[in-house]
Amino acid sequence: MTNLFEKDPYLKEFESKIINVNQELKTIELENTAFYAKGGGQPGDTGIIEIDGEKLEVIDTTKNGGSIFNIVENIKNAEKEKKIIGKINWKKRYKHMRMHSALHLICSAIPLDVTGGQIGFEKSRLDFNDPEKNINKEEIEEKINVLVKENHSISYEYLDSKILEEKPEIVRTMSVKPPKINGKIRLVRIGNIDYQPCGGTHVNTTLEIGEIKVSKVENKGRMNRRVNILLND
Ligand SMILES: [Zn+2]
Repeated sequence: MTNLFEKDPYLKEFESKIINVNQELKTIELENTAFYAKGGGQPGDTGIIEIDGEKLEVIDTTKNGGSIFNIVENIKNAEKEKKIIGKINWKKRYKHMRMHSALHLICSAIPLDVTGGQIGFEKSRLDFNDPEKNINKEEIEEKINVLVKENHSISYEYLDSKILEEKPEIVRTMSVKPPKINGKIRLVRIGNIDYQPCGGTHVNTTLEIGEIKVSKVENKGRMNRRVNILLND
């Protein structure tokens, strides 16, 4: 199975064939796929799988081991070996890409440990270990919007996973384990401001994120503080 979204996150439509069907779980496995599987705080893709002109609605995409599964509503006509056309719900996915890149900027702007995070269509959040309550809502918002406007490019690199043992400090989050594929880990670089392991889909430049709004900074327990963000449509 090849992840098409890893090399080209902008791929919205693709051809492939079915390699496995599970009628009971309502899952389809494809030979190649551009559907992003839920992971690293980013939701799984939705969309359409077309078989002989019939459209099956993909309601979620998940992964297990190295395999990616589309969960579909009506699986009846899905059969192994059948050719398909996959179409990603682009409105949703593109928002997730902008949100994901925005969270990396926030991560770079706040020099504290990340304890959790979630990307969503309407809003996203990142949790920090901030017992001294150093995070300031207005300050962060201003800082991020400067980085957005500076139009930094976003690119991917692959490193031997052994490098993580030598440089554990490049992993900023305690909650997300970087995905390891064939002994390699994928790193996302944002200009010279952020560099961290990540398997998610990102926009090409920070300008594509658009203006961000820090809607609130909430206390979550004694140590944790949650930074919530919104994007313009
Ligand atoms: Zn990420």
